[in-house]
Amino acid sequence: MNLCDIKTIKQIMAMFSLNFRKEFGQNFLTDNFVVEDIADNCCTDASSTILEIGPGIGSLTKELSARYENVVALEIDHGLIPVLKYTLGDCRNVTVINEDVMKADLEGILAPYFERGKVSVCANLPYYITTPILMKLLESGLPFEYITVMIQSEVADRLCATPGDKNCGAITAVLGYYGTPEKLFTVTADRFIPAPKVDSSVVRIKLHEKKPYVPIDEPTFFRTIRASFEQRRKTLPNSLSSVFSELSKEELTAAIIECGHDANIRGEKLSVSEFVALSDKLYELIKAKQ
Ligand code: SAM
Repeated sequence: MNLCDIKTIKQIMAMFSLNFRKEFGQNFLTDNFVVEDIADNCCTDASSTILEIGPGIGSLTKELSARYENVVALEIDHGLIPVLKYTLGDCRNVTVINEDVMKADLEGILAPYFERGKVSVCANLPYYITTPILMKLLESGLPFEYITVMIQSEVADRLCATPGDKNCGAITAVLGYYGTPEKLFTVTADRFIPAPKVDSSVVRIKLHEKKPYVPIDEPTFFRTIRASFEQRRKTLPNSLSSVFSELSKEELTAAIIECGHDANIRGEKLSVSEFVALSDKLYELIKAKQ
């Protein structure tokens, strides 16, 4: 059964009386080469377990199952569960769980697999919830080796931007803290059914085993990043002062200069290590006042 063949996809959906559910971001891949390419490149170790988010009718799941030791697939749409039983009947190493990834206890679900070896994530993500899912995976603190996701190309450009790029955003700095992203390839909208409005790209993130830069206080670090990008047109002292109300504009400007920057620098110019240094300085200033 070719799960990327449009006629087959339509037949399966009709057989189970299902429609593509827009509210779940259901755009299924129709290109075998793309599916195989994602499965080939999402991980380097065949003995790994892969967590797949949103298996749909199982096209990518099947390819992952053929390449890796175990696949755990979380699917929110209960209507697709009997479909997955049908399409993945022969794949003994696949466990399908009918759950919303945002509510799932990932630590509990994956504990036995982490005990056995490495775990990576691979997903053609639903567009409506890309960033929350990525943040949940990163903030979980689970030691995933890779997170490979198919997302809107525009979001992929933001994730993979370098400091100073026009595409650089808060998510760029946050992601750089957790790992190193790499854009693998772009997939045009006509490779999906139904076709979305925009093209997609596959991004593979190699998570740091040991973070190269660690702030004294993580909440202050994330607050510094958020403040720096909230009002992009403003210079750094101005955007920081709207969030760090406990510090004066003069103190913020002095902290920025002490970190070796021009007082008029903008947030998007800063690298992860520079955000760590600046947030450490701000944390010390705040602590000194308490
Ligand atoms: N993997 C399939 C493919 O590549 O053709 C389907 C990808 S489709 C873009 C996104 C899938 O994620 C759908 O199957 C959808 O039902 C599922 N999904 C959406 N929101 C989800 C959530 N919060 N938790 C788990 N799965 C979700």
